[in-house]
Amino acid sequence: MFGCNPEKKSDSTKTLTDQERRQHERGSDEAIEKKIDELLGQMTLEEKIGQMTQLNNSVIVTNSNWGAGTDLRIEIKVDTAKLGVALRKYHIGSFLNGIAVPAETWYAFYKDLQEYNLKVSRLKIPVIYGVDHVHGPNYLEGGTIFPHAINTAATYNNQFPADMAHVTAIETADIGHQWLFAPVLDLSRTPLWGRFYETLGESPYVAATMGSIYVKTVQNDTSIAPYKIAATAKHFLGYSDPKNGWDRGPADFSDQTLYEFYVPSFKAAIDAGIKTVMINSGDVNGEAVHSSYRILTELLRDELKFKGVAVTDWEDIVRLYRNHKVAQDEKEATYKAIMAGVDMAMTPYTTAFCDLLKELVNEKKISMDRIDLSVARILRLKLDLGLFDHPYPRNDRFNRIGSPENKAKALEVARESIVLMRNEKNTLPLAPEKTKKILVAGPVANLKAPLGGGWTLRWMTSDESIYPKNMLTLYAALQKEYSDNKVALATSAAEIKSKAAGADAIVVAIGEMPYAEGYGSIIDISLPEDQVELVKAAQATGKPVVLVMISGRPRVITKIYGGCQSVLFAGLPGFEGAQAIAEIVSGKVNPSAKMSFNYPYAVNRLVPHNHKSSEVVLAHEIENPTSLMPFGTGLSYTTFEYSNLKLSDSVLTSATASIQATVTVKNTGTREGKEAVLWFLFDEVASISRPVKDLKFYEKKSLKPGESAEFTFTIKPDESLSFPNRKNERLLENGYFTLMVGNLKTRFKLEQSENH
Ligand code: BGC
Repeated sequence: MFGCNPEKKSDSTKTLTDQERRQHERGSDEAIEKKIDELLGQMTLEEKIGQMTQLNNSVIVTNSNWGAGTDLRIEIKVDTAKLGVALRKYHIGSFLNGIAVPAETWYAFYKDLQEYNLKVSRLKIPVIYGVDHVHGPNYLEGGTIFPHAINTAATYNNQFPADMAHVTAIETADIGHQWLFAPVLDLSRTPLWGRFYETLGESPYVAATMGSIYVKTVQNDTSIAPYKIAATAKHFLGYSDPKNGWDRGPADFSDQTLYEFYVPSFKAAIDAGIKTVMINSGDVNGEAVHSSYRILTELLRDELKFKGVAVTDWEDIVRLYRNHKVAQDEKEATYKAIMAGVDMAMTPYTTAFCDLLKELVNEKKISMDRIDLSVARILRLKLDLGLFDHPYPRNDRFNRIGSPENKAKALEVARESIVLMRNEKNTLPLAPEKTKKILVAGPVANLKAPLGGGWTLRWMTSDESIYPKNMLTLYAALQKEYSDNKVALATSAAEIKSKAAGADAIVVAIGEMPYAEGYGSIIDISLPEDQVELVKAAQATGKPVVLVMISGRPRVITKIYGGCQSVLFAGLPGFEGAQAIAEIVSGKVNPSAKMSFNYPYAVNRLVPHNHKSSEVVLAHEIENPTSLMPFGTGLSYTTFEYSNLKLSDSVLTSATASIQATVTVKNTGTREGKEAVLWFLFDEVASISRPVKDLKFYEKKSLKPGESAEFTFTIKPDESLSFPNRKNERLLENGYFTLMVGNLKTRFKLEQSENH
């Protein structure tokens, strides 16, 4: 069974021994490299393997009633007896996970954990703690909870991933959360997948741009000194497009698709210096990623030049034999995962990995060089973060947690992340001075949990009692926004009917309750029938209906869409989200978000904006639009006119030349508004069929009524016109390109000379 050779390399890959690879990965800080060499020289095999192991904190706390349930209650307090075994016998180097407890509780927990560890660690190697803070410090009571990434992407405002990274860093670094399992760099190319909301949308360009801004900000934030934080690019790679839509299901796509769509966000994060990656739990093109040398070493290390730590996802080595059936037992699974390129195993409940890996080394199936390669990476991570010098948390800066300043940042993201999809006869805004009564209805209208979605306070929970007392539901936020008891709540279709009289409009909040991971695998992405009926009941009153969708993904709403005067897609806007929605409804805020995905028109027509031409032809044949609301579109309370699209040249004669495209955008309405200008390209004829349009650049500016601004996009062939083939060779082919911005189009030509 160990005879199969996962080390066999493709011809194009440079072959390095583990020792050579370790040399090749040495960093520029000589003191750190010297320390790594010294430690490796002193560590026993058991100590090395301990560094490669990550345990869930349920294994070391007093109340281990922590599982895959929906309402998790756990006491986060170190149990020294349990910790003793983990540290004395197994020398465990990392722990993970959380729920929202107060900062003081985290502080005491981490202090106890690290103190105990440094007392028993022969070589005084600190532990590192990993937490899923994916939209602000979501596992910290009182923390600032931002919208989820699907909303961040819809802002098309690059300030926001930086704000979220900064706030997360200052609210968590002091409590020992120095390894963040964020950002998610998967692309949401199918809303069937339940982790859609964790992504930065369907565009590789947006995910790469915003993802790398997050990475740079969180890893280089000096306001958390003396601490530093490591980000995690997850889930490497191709996780988000399971064929059946179910979480962790197999994904199959061509290598060309892999390089064009799934690699760029990870490449950008690696180029931005990301310190760790987490591995995709699924299969890609027939290979379980956790045992794929091709993906974890050839692609990740040799092609993308990643030098940091690759951690498994949850229990994924065991799952190589339990789920994927590519190993006959845990030992073979361990062998395959390590030989493929895993550095650290999130086991996360058992230490069997430690025993099995030790056996494999003692049996000479895995070499000490291979172990040293991973341990060097892990030690470098800990040294780079300064954990050896500053291993303990501190509690003298907790006033930064959930501060008004931080919450204002989260509110600002929410305001710019809510897409106005439809606004017949300018039904919105409902100006407070002119509004006598608003009726609010819908299953999520008076709930807090749906605004945060999964990964909020708990892995997932609908328990309203644990949400902050001062957090607003949409109903409460509208009450605050419209004084004088103007807002009434209807909790059923019958109440909608009986309370509609005198209402200026009925706001119906539809959507989803929180879910995470596999719990987001649903059988139908249509809006559930009971919600459809409720919306129809509102429509039947004859009053204007304002539909507000609070949901982690688009649910198909085509049959009720036309009957709603206004529709807002609020996504998962976080703890300040209800206020942001209310301010858009009242008109205090002018919406400026644009879709970060193609909103589906029908359940059998799930097509991202950058699909191939052949797919559109089919869609036209059956006379259905591909989307209800296209990627990159969204309405405002003002209007913008695009004009004067100009190119500095109409021909590019070399790969190093560039063209400047400019367009004038004028605010032709009566109020100030922000406009995100999105530049798309279409390569009209190419050797590999190209996306019908693909986003290449965006920029957002605020314009006063009557004001015009010029927006510029510099078209560089290497960045915007070339594309990868299945071997990731960049092709740059002569011919015409269509440039699209707003409702305007123009063409230019790439005409390189023969010997380019
Ligand atoms: C998820 C990861 C997460 C990890 C640790 C896994 O099940 O797929 O995204 O970081 O758990 O909580």
